[in-house]
Amino acid sequence: MRIHTQFTGGNITVEKIEDNNVYVEREIRDTEGDWFYWAFCVEDAAGMTLTFRFPNKARVGRFGPAISHDLENWHWQEVSCAGDVFTYTFGPDENKVYFAHNMLYHPVRFMDFCEKHGLTVETICTSVKGRDLPATRFGTGDKWILLTARHHACESTGSYVLEGVMETLLPALPEEYSVLVVPCVDYDGVLDGDQGKNRKPHDHNRDYTEEPIYAVVDYMMQFGREHNLMYTFDFHSPWHQGGQNDHVFLSRSTEAMEPFTNHFAEFLKEETAGIVLHYDRIYDVGPNEQWNDETSPNSKNYFSKQDSVKLSVTLETPYFGLDATKTSQAYQLELGHAFARAMLRYMEEK
Ligand SMILES: [Zn+2]
Repeated sequence: MRIHTQFTGGNITVEKIEDNNVYVEREIRDTEGDWFYWAFCVEDAAGMTLTFRFPNKARVGRFGPAISHDLENWHWQEVSCAGDVFTYTFGPDENKVYFAHNMLYHPVRFMDFCEKHGLTVETICTSVKGRDLPATRFGTGDKWILLTARHHACESTGSYVLEGVMETLLPALPEEYSVLVVPCVDYDGVLDGDQGKNRKPHDHNRDYTEEPIYAVVDYMMQFGREHNLMYTFDFHSPWHQGGQNDHVFLSRSTEAMEPFTNHFAEFLKEETAGIVLHYDRIYDVGPNEQWNDETSPNSKNYFSKQDSVKLSVTLETPYFGLDATKTSQAYQLELGHAFARAMLRYMEEK
C-alpha cells in the first residue's frame, strides 16, 4: 500500500500508520492560521479496509471524502461523517483511488473546454514559480466582463461554476460585449495543491494594492485601467461547512454597489429557483458584515471602485451543501448556467 501526492493538487502528510489506521493531516504550507484542504492517492490497497484519521474535525465534509479514480469524475463517499475520520474498503481490483476534501477541478479540464469551444488559451503573465499563466477571451465588443476563479487555490467549486457560466455565455453573449476569463488566478497553488487562502504575506485576493506582488493581479488591474470594464464576477468556495457555508451566497462589494447587487440578486434568485444549488440573498454577506470589510484590497472591492464598472461581486458556492442540496460536479455547472442567465438579463436591462 502506498499513499502519495504525486498528482496535480496533491496535499497530505502521513504522520503514522498503525494496523489499518492511517494518521494523516493536510499540509498547511504558507497559509497563516488553519485551513482544511487535502488530497491524496492510495495505490496498491486492493482488498484492504483502511481508516484515515485527521487531528481536526474540520477536515472531511458531511458526506465523507470526495472520491475519484481518474481525477476527472468525482463523487462523495456517501457516508455520514464526523469530520475527522473515514473508513474505506478497497475493492478486489481497486488499486488506485484518489481521496480529497472537495471535488478537484483539474486545469486540463479548462484547457479541454476551451479547445472544444474553439477558444484560444493565451499566457497573460508568468506565475511566481515561473509557469505560463493561462487565460482566454471571447466576444466582439468593447464592453468587457472579467470572470475569475481560484484567487484561493483550493476553491474548486468556483471552477465548475465558471465553466458553466462560460458554456451559457458563449452562444448568447451580446455583440457589444467581450469576456476575459482568468480561470486559475493562483495557478501555482492549484497545480501544487496549496491551500492558497491566507497565504503569507497575503493571498491573491488581498493583492489589489498599489504594488501588487502577483503578476496576474497586476495584469488584471492594468487590464481594468485600459479597457471599458463593466462587470467583474469572481467565483469562490466559502469555509469548510456549517451555517452560510452550506449555501450559495454572494459576498457583496461596496455600499455604493448595493443597489446594483440587489438588482442582480433578484435575477439570480429567479434563475436558480428550480435547481439544486439555488440562491437566496438571506445568506449574503453585505459590505462591512462579518469578514467582508469594504476596504479590503480584494478583487470585487477594487473593481467596484473603478468608474466604468457597473457590477462587481463574488459568488460563494458550497463544497458540500446539505442533504437536499448536495453538491456534485453537474449541479455546480448547472449553477453556472443559471448565473450566466442572470448576467444576461442584467446586461440586457442596463
Ligand atoms: Zn475564496
